[in-house]
Amino acid sequence: PLKHIAIIGLGAMGAPMALHLSRSGYEVTGVDLDPGARDRFSGAVTPQQADFSGVDAVVTMLPEGPQVMDVYQGAILSNAHSGAVLIDCSTIDLETARTLNKLAVEKGFAQIDAPVSGGPEAAGAGELSFMVGGDADHVSLARPLLENLGKKTTHFGAAGSGQAAKACHNMICGITAMAVFEGFALAEALKLDADQFYELCAGAAAQSWTLENRCPIPGVVPAAPSSNGYAPGFAARLMAKDLRLAQAAAQMSGQVTPFGAEAARAFTRFAEATGGDLDFSSYFTALKQQTKT
Ligand code: NAD
Repeated sequence: PLKHIAIIGLGAMGAPMALHLSRSGYEVTGVDLDPGARDRFSGAVTPQQADFSGVDAVVTMLPEGPQVMDVYQGAILSNAHSGAVLIDCSTIDLETARTLNKLAVEKGFAQIDAPVSGGPEAAGAGELSFMVGGDADHVSLARPLLENLGKKTTHFGAAGSGQAAKACHNMICGITAMAVFEGFALAEALKLDADQFYELCAGAAAQSWTLENRCPIPGVVPAAPSSNGYAPGFAARLMAKDLRLAQAAAQMSGQVTPFGAEAARAFTRFAEATGGDLDFSSYFTALKQQTKT
C-alpha cells in the first residue's frame, strides 16, 4: 500500500493536494524550489534536500514539460527506490510525457501520466478528475491515491494518452470560452440586459460550464472571477499554454483544428500582452477594448 508520498510542486494545485493527502492520513513530503511555495506546506524541502528513498509514490505537479524532465532526471530517477510509483499530474506535452515514461520504465519504475481537470478548490477537497495514461498494472498501483485525490479516474490507454485527453478537453474549453466571451461582448454592444441574457443562455442551447462558471460580465454570476476583479481561477497564461499543447498534439497527429488554432493564438497574444496572471475570463476586457475600424 502507498503510505509515504512526495509531492513535487507546491503551487496553486500541488499545495492543496498535499494538504488533502496529509489530512487523509498519508505521510506527505512536500518539495518546491520556491521558498514562498514551501511556506504553504509544513516541513517542505528543496529538490536538493529531498530524500525519496523511503517514498512509495512521487507525485509531480509542475508547470510544464521541461520542469518535470528536470526533476525526473535530476532527482527522482536516481534517488527513488525502484518500487516507487511515479505519477505526473502536471499538464505537459505528449512527447515529453512519453519520454518520461520510457526513461522511468527502463529503470524499473511504475510510471503514469495523470493530468487533472478541476482547480485549486477541487484539489483541496479531493474532487479532481484524472485523465490517465500508462500500463494497466501501473495504473492499478496508483489508483488508491488517485481515488483519494479525485472523484473520477479515467484510464485512456498507453503512456501519454492522459495528456492526449487533457489536450482535447482543454481545447474544447478554450474554444467554448471564446464563444461565450464574444457572445456576451456582442450582447453588451447591442444593449441587451446582461442578467436576462445570462438566464436565457443558462436555460437554452448556449448553456456550458464556461457560461455558468466564467460569465465574463462582472456582477452577473457572483462567484465568477469576473465579479472578483478577474482573480484566478485558471490563469490566462495557463489557458494559452494548454491551447498550445493541443496545437502541438494536432500537428503531431495531422488533425486540422482551425478554431483550436485561433483560440491558441488569441489567448497567447492576450497572455503575452498582459502577463496572463488574471483569470482567462479577463480576455473579455481586451475584447471590449478592441473597436472595429
Ligand atoms: P503553479 O505555477 O501555481 O505551481 C507550480 C509550482 O512548481 C511552483 O510552486 C514552482 O515553484 C514549482 N516548481 C517549478 N519548477 C520546479 C522544480 N524544478 N522543482 C521543484 N518545484 C518547481 O502551477 P499550478 O497552477 O499548481 O499548476 C500545475 C500544473 O497543473 C500545470 O501544468 C497546470 O497547467 C495544471 N493545472 C492547473 C490547474 C489550475 O486551476 N491551476 C487546473 C488543472 C491543471
